[in-house]
Amino acid sequence: MREIQAFLSNFQKEMNWEISEENYKESKASILHNYMLLTTEVSEVAEEFRAIFNKTYKLATVEGMDEKEAFQMAKDLHKENIGKELSDCIAYLVKFANYLDIDLEESFYQKMNEVKLRTNKDQS
Ligand SMILES: [Mg+2]
Repeated sequence: MREIQAFLSNFQKEMNWEISEENYKESKASILHNYMLLTTEVSEVAEEFRAIFNKTYKLATVEGMDEKEAFQMAKDLHKENIGKELSDCIAYLVKFANYLDIDLEESFYQKMNEVKLRTNKDQS
């Protein structure tokens, strides 16, 4: 994760895609803009899953293929695209982490430990 954060820090500088640190107003506008770009990428992941479900339906229901095979074929067909969209999401998430100087690797394992230890209200 630290490697990815360092890579993206350089990449964003190179592309001139950093969150503005000009002043509060510029930073706020830049953060909101990047947040919208992140949500756009999240919706692109949903579009890919929707395409998988549509393809599975077409192969299984319309063309009579075994549903399990159809689903696998659809996943295989969209795997590369979903990888790209998930990568877009990661790029924006890491951009926010870099802007705030957050060590995502440390934060991630801390959070997962919190999740593991927290009481599940549904089970108590
Ligand atoms: Mg995308």
